[in-house]
Amino acid sequence: MAEHGAIFGAMLEEFDVAARILNLDAGIWRILTHPKRQIVVSCPVQMDSGEIEVFTGYRVQYNITLGPAKGGIRYHPEVSLDEVTALAAWMTWKCAIAQLPFGGGKGGIVCDPTRMSKRELEALTRRYVSELVDAIGPDKDVPAPDVNTNDQTMAWIMDTYSMHVGHTSTAVVTGKPIAMGGSLGRREATGRGVMIVTREAAKHLGIEMKGATVAIQGCGNVGSISAEQFTSIGARVVAVTDWKGGVMNKRGLDIPALLAHQKEHGSVEGFAGAEPLSNEELFALDVDVLVPAALENQITEENAGQVRAKIVTEGANGPTTPEAHRIMHANGVFVIPDILANAGGVTTSYFEWVQDRHGYFWEEDEVNLKLEKKMCSAFDAVLKTSLKYKVDMRTAAYIVAIDRVGTVTKMRGMYA
Ligand code: NAD
Repeated sequence: MAEHGAIFGAMLEEFDVAARILNLDAGIWRILTHPKRQIVVSCPVQMDSGEIEVFTGYRVQYNITLGPAKGGIRYHPEVSLDEVTALAAWMTWKCAIAQLPFGGGKGGIVCDPTRMSKRELEALTRRYVSELVDAIGPDKDVPAPDVNTNDQTMAWIMDTYSMHVGHTSTAVVTGKPIAMGGSLGRREATGRGVMIVTREAAKHLGIEMKGATVAIQGCGNVGSISAEQFTSIGARVVAVTDWKGGVMNKRGLDIPALLAHQKEHGSVEGFAGAEPLSNEELFALDVDVLVPAALENQITEENAGQVRAKIVTEGANGPTTPEAHRIMHANGVFVIPDILANAGGVTTSYFEWVQDRHGYFWEEDEVNLKLEKKMCSAFDAVLKTSLKYKVDMRTAAYIVAIDRVGTVTKMRGMYA
């Protein structure tokens, strides 16, 4: 792109390092650093007050070389075309690393869902989908939930699309309720994937996961399920923080009791049998594994030097700034990058899409077994690449993704 913002710029910075090592063909380089399609729509909505407001929505189909675009839709006041484009690019690389037959996409609407009623959110979602109805579809672009959207939002998307095309189309969107074509295991998939890649990294580094200590930032879908998953393999989750505060217990937190406390009080703060802990303290803990699973830009130049964990598993998207990553790598921290670490979610979204298209649904064990295989082979490919090129895991993940998408781009050739 001739002009781009800071978030897409950060993606390009990471991309360029890997493309240079791969000695990527200049033409392929040019193609892979341009979004295929950026759609901007205006969505008028009659608010509960009777007034009409117009919301701006985006959908970016960054690359569809390997298959339909795939990626979530977020509702947030700070959504921008720059952010959506960068996230769509990251989805492209993530799907390629997990070897899914998908390209990368992402959507967003500039709105503050915390100040909107359920009816207003439904009207906004349906209008956004009707504006995009020709651009999305099971073979074109398959959205999913992201920040501030959930299975109810996906149900509205599926219904609106189905009404427009005249038949029920479950495979147009993933992350749906189980009763209408969702997949068993999807809710737990990202946290399960976080555990799997961490376990594989520990194996590589000679760290025993049984009894290993884990600290987690964020106790939402990714953080809470990761905590349960680590506990299930015998690790000790010693610290968890969320938006309000955090708690720590060196002997290991009682995770079911902690989650019950969080459900009742809206935060992990104040959990009995643990000491209070701030986010700053969490990052400096002497633990085996640190999992940032909350927001972007949490590990920065300021606190990266304090990280003492042996493994950092990026459950969140973009939790580490490029400078912070350089500092941790120089200090010997083994960082499992987001485009590998949190790929469990999109992998199980892929399973949901496959099940919808077949109209045949799998047992949860089958979903989990297939996820285990996919995550292990993705980790293995990235680790082998990292050892081959003597680069960190983030650069290796980009090399794997660029190589896969670039090779197919070349094989398909230019249609012009
Ligand atoms: P969520 O909304 O369920 O949970 C977010 C958690 O972060 C909450 O516990 C919240 O209290 C906490 N948090 C918010 N602000 C915080 C702060 N300042 N300090 C500490 N904690 C804070 O979201 P989620 O679905 O768990 O997603 C978390 C991250 O993982 C996001 O970056 C998301 O893009 C990424 N991700 C999620 C999935 C998925 O399947 N849910 C898949 C891939 C990536």
